[in-house]
Amino acid sequence: MIILVFLHKIKTMDFTDAKIRSENLRKVIEQHNRSYYVDANPAISDFEYDLLVKELETIEKEYPELQTADSPTQRIGNDINNAFVQIKHKYPMLSLGNTYTESDLNDFDQRVRKITENNFEYVCELKFDGISISLTYKNGILQQAVTRGDGEKGDDVTANIRTIRNIPLKIYGDYPDEFEIRGEIFMPHSSFERLNKERADAGETLFANPRNATAGTIKLQNSSQVAKRGLDCFLYYLLGENLPHSNHYDNLQEAKKWGFPISQNVQKCQTIQQVTDYINYWDEARKKLPYDTDGVVIKINNTEQQEELGVTAKSPRWAIAYKFKAEQAITKLLSVDFQVGRTGAITPVANLQPVLLAGTTVKRASLHNQEQINILDIRISDMVIVEKGGEIIPKIVGVDKSHRTGDSKEFEYITHCPECGTKLEREESEAKHFCPNENGCHPQIIGKIEHFISRKAMAIDGLGAETIELLYKNSLINNVADLYDLKKEQLLPLERIAEKSAENIIKSIEDSKNIEFQRVLFAIGIRFVGETTAKKIVEKLHSIDEIMSANEEQLLQIDEIGERIAQSIIKYFANQKNQEIVQRLRDAGLQMKTKEVFNKISDKLKGMSFVVSGTFTSYSRDELKQIIEQHGGKNVSAISASTSYLLAGEKSGQMKIEKANRLKVKIIDENQFNELINK
Ligand SMILES: [Zn+2]
Repeated sequence: MIILVFLHKIKTMDFTDAKIRSENLRKVIEQHNRSYYVDANPAISDFEYDLLVKELETIEKEYPELQTADSPTQRIGNDINNAFVQIKHKYPMLSLGNTYTESDLNDFDQRVRKITENNFEYVCELKFDGISISLTYKNGILQQAVTRGDGEKGDDVTANIRTIRNIPLKIYGDYPDEFEIRGEIFMPHSSFERLNKERADAGETLFANPRNATAGTIKLQNSSQVAKRGLDCFLYYLLGENLPHSNHYDNLQEAKKWGFPISQNVQKCQTIQQVTDYINYWDEARKKLPYDTDGVVIKINNTEQQEELGVTAKSPRWAIAYKFKAEQAITKLLSVDFQVGRTGAITPVANLQPVLLAGTTVKRASLHNQEQINILDIRISDMVIVEKGGEIIPKIVGVDKSHRTGDSKEFEYITHCPECGTKLEREESEAKHFCPNENGCHPQIIGKIEHFISRKAMAIDGLGAETIELLYKNSLINNVADLYDLKKEQLLPLERIAEKSAENIIKSIEDSKNIEFQRVLFAIGIRFVGETTAKKIVEKLHSIDEIMSANEEQLLQIDEIGERIAQSIIKYFANQKNQEIVQRLRDAGLQMKTKEVFNKISDKLKGMSFVVSGTFTSYSRDELKQIIEQHGGKNVSAISASTSYLLAGEKSGQMKIEKANRLKVKIIDENQFNELINK
C-alpha cells in the first residue's frame, strides 16, 4: 500500500526527493532480484515486484537525468534495433576439449599429474547446454556482454543480456575494479515450452531444442522481445589481473557473494575416482533439472597451475569436458559419398534415410575411414545405429544385423580419388586414405587457398569460397602464390566483382605481406602443421631457410613435434612444386623470418629463460614477455631447474615461489628486471 501512495505522489515529487527515492528503489529491486534469482528465495510477490519497477520507471520518465545504466528498468529492453558490433576478447574464449570415455579422463588425469607433480585439486561443474557469454564489469557495473563468436571476436549483445533478470547490472561487496566473468546463457524448459507453444499458436516454426532457442534469442534485434523469452544464466569462470583468490573454486564463491548466479552443484574433487562419481551421479540426476545439461566440466582448481598447464590453439590444457552419452537412433544406410579435404584426406559420408535424433532430423553421418567401416562391417542398405555426440555431423557407431538380408555385399572402398582419379595412398600409421595429387586435385587446390586466406592464416578479406572458385575457373589462380600476381584489371571483367571489391581484394592481398612468419608457415598448409605447431617451430627455427634445411633429427628436438609431423614437413619441402610456391611467396615479399629477429633490441637476456608471474606496476604480463623476447630471452610457462629467473610481481603464486626456491631458481622483481635490461 505504501508503494501505491508513492506512485500517486510522484507528480508532486521534487528533484531531490525523486533522486533519493529512485536510488532507494534501485537498491531494493536489485535485492529482490538477488533473493529471487540467486538465492531462489523470493521475499515479495511478483505483483509487488512489478509495482516497484513501475514506480522507478515513472520517476525515470519524469526525470530522465536520474536514469542510470545499471537501473533495473533497463532490463525491460528497448525497441531500438541492435546492430551487433564485433568486439575483440581481451582473453581468447577457447572451447573445451571433449571426452566421452573414462579412459580419456584417465589420460587427462595422467597428463595433469605429470605436470603438477601430483599436487592438485579438481573442480567439477555441470556443463549447461546454451550459449557462452563473457561479461565485463568496471567499478561494479556491467559494461559489456560479448558472445564467444570465433573465440577471438564476438558480438556485443549487451542490450539483450541486460534483460536477463539474474545477471546483475551492479554488484556489491569487495570486487576488483575491473574483471571479466564467463558463463552460459540458457533457456529453462519452462520458458522453452511456453515459447514453442506461442510459436505453434502463431503458426511459426518451432525451435528444435532450448539451445537453438537461446541462440536465436540472443541474436534478436529487439531487446524488448528478448526480455519476454525468459532466458536464464549461470556464470562459471572469473578472469582478470586482480582476482581475490588464486583458485577457481574460491573465486566462484566470492563472485556469488557479489551477486552473480553461480550453480550450487560445483564440487571440489581430489581424485579422478571422485570425478567419475560426480559424473555418474549427474548423468542420472540431470534428468530432473529444469534446464538442459550435456556433460561435466573438469577444471584444475589452482590458477597458477592452470597457467602452468597452458593452452593449445583451440582449448585450455587445464580443463576438459566430459560429454554425457549421446542419444542414438536406428535408420537405413542408403549410400556413401566420398569427400576430399584440403590436405587430400578422404572422408566417407553416409547418406541416411532421414531420422529424428536429439531434436533434429539427421540425413548424413560420418563414417570416418575404411578401417572403421570394416570393423563395424557396414553394408549398403543396412539398418545402422546413428549417434549424436559433440560433433555437428552425427556418426555411425554400429549395425543392427538382425535386419540384414542374405544378398547384402561387403562394402567396397574406393581405390581412386573421386575428384581427380589419382590412385589413393594410405600410410601405415594413418587411418585415412589420401589423394597424393596435392597441386592438381580440385578440392585440394581450392581448400589450400581457402585455408591460406583464412582469418587465422593470412587473413585476406573479400575473398570467399565462391570468389576463389570463380578465380580458379577463370584460370587466374591455381595455387596460393598466384594470388600475389593478381591485378585489379583481371578481376573487373568477372561477374559479381565490382570496382570497389576488386580494390579491396588487391589491397587485402597486399596487406597480407605484413603477416608474421609463424602465420605464413601455418598458411602454406603443411599437413599436421597447425597454428600451435607452426608457433613452436618458429620459436626454434627463425626462418623458412632454417626450416627447409632442417633434418628430421633437428625437427624432432622441437617441442611437441613427433615423427609424424617431422616427416610431413620434410616431405612438403622435398616436393619441387612446393619449393617453387615458397620461392614465389618469398619473391612477392611475404615474411619469411620471425619478427622477433627484426625487432630485437639487444642480446642482454640471451640464453636466459623466464617465468613471469603475478601483477606489475609498469607493465602487463604480456608486455613483460615481449620485452624478454626483444632482449633475446625466452619465456617458459613452468619452472624447472634450467629456468634462469622467476620474475615475480605482486600476488605472484606461492607455489611458483616455493618451486623456484626448491630448484634454486633466482627470484627477481620488476626493478631487478629493469636493471638486467638497462645495465
Ligand atoms: Zn584427387
